[in-house]
Amino acid sequence: MKIIEEGVKYIEVVEAVEELIRRRGAELAFPVNVAVNSIAAHYTPAPGEKKRFQHGDLVKLDVGAHIDGCIGDTAATVEVGTSSWSGLVEASRQALYRAISFIKAGVSLGELGGVVERVIRSSGFQPIVNLTGHSIDVYKLHGGYSIPNYNNHNPLRVKEGLILAIEPFATNGGGTVASGGNSNIYRYLKTKIGLKPELQQMARSVERLRRGLPFSSRWFVKEIKGSVRDLRRMVSRGVLYSYPILVEEKGGMVSQWEHTIYVKENGVEVLTERTGAD
Ligand code: MN
Ligand code: MN
Repeated sequence: MKIIEEGVKYIEVVEAVEELIRRRGAELAFPVNVAVNSIAAHYTPAPGEKKRFQHGDLVKLDVGAHIDGCIGDTAATVEVGTSSWSGLVEASRQALYRAISFIKAGVSLGELGGVVERVIRSSGFQPIVNLTGHSIDVYKLHGGYSIPNYNNHNPLRVKEGLILAIEPFATNGGGTVASGGNSNIYRYLKTKIGLKPELQQMARSVERLRRGLPFSSRWFVKEIKGSVRDLRRMVSRGVLYSYPILVEEKGGMVSQWEHTIYVKENGVEVLTERTGAD
């Protein structure tokens, strides 16, 4: 968050974070996501991308690390050189911490969403209703539980021992996202008969290296030595899934905060909170 400044390239920030995670002995659970202004989620720079942060940008940085498939997923929002959106930034941050202090074994997903919704609405903004938090399993970023950003009356209760990513999204727009363009993020789905041998080889490498976790075209070009065209071919054959960018439908500005927590009988342990200086 500290190195995001006017004129800095997205790719510099993303590569610095990815490098730090690897240096600290973990692996990337997914490519570092940079979502600016009305983009809510799912974007990472393309290989060699030149895009730079501009004065007044509202930037969400979403980061995931894993060790042996145990994933931490966390996000925060920062403004580039301005403080025009501090109310919006605070709305999702307060919603996250209010949800964290509310969660314990036995609370329902609907009630939990209601806590997030109340904080965001009482701050004068809308929760994004078609984005959710999620449970996390080993090598599985989205487990079976979805944590809504509003009270959807889901009676399912959280249990002790669950790992949950709580991620409130707030906006001054309408409160929904739609799919936009290419995010440069992919995931392996399945192999297909009749795939060209070189693509078959690449698909196998991705399957082995990522074990179903998302990856970026930057990594694919650098580590698998493939091209963006190879990725497109594999997507059209159904071998890979290509994540679309998620954009606020009315063009509203979006803020997001996220932590991964461990559910205990009487509360939670926050697993992605900063514990010391770096
Ligand atoms: Mn995340
Ligand atoms: Mn998440």
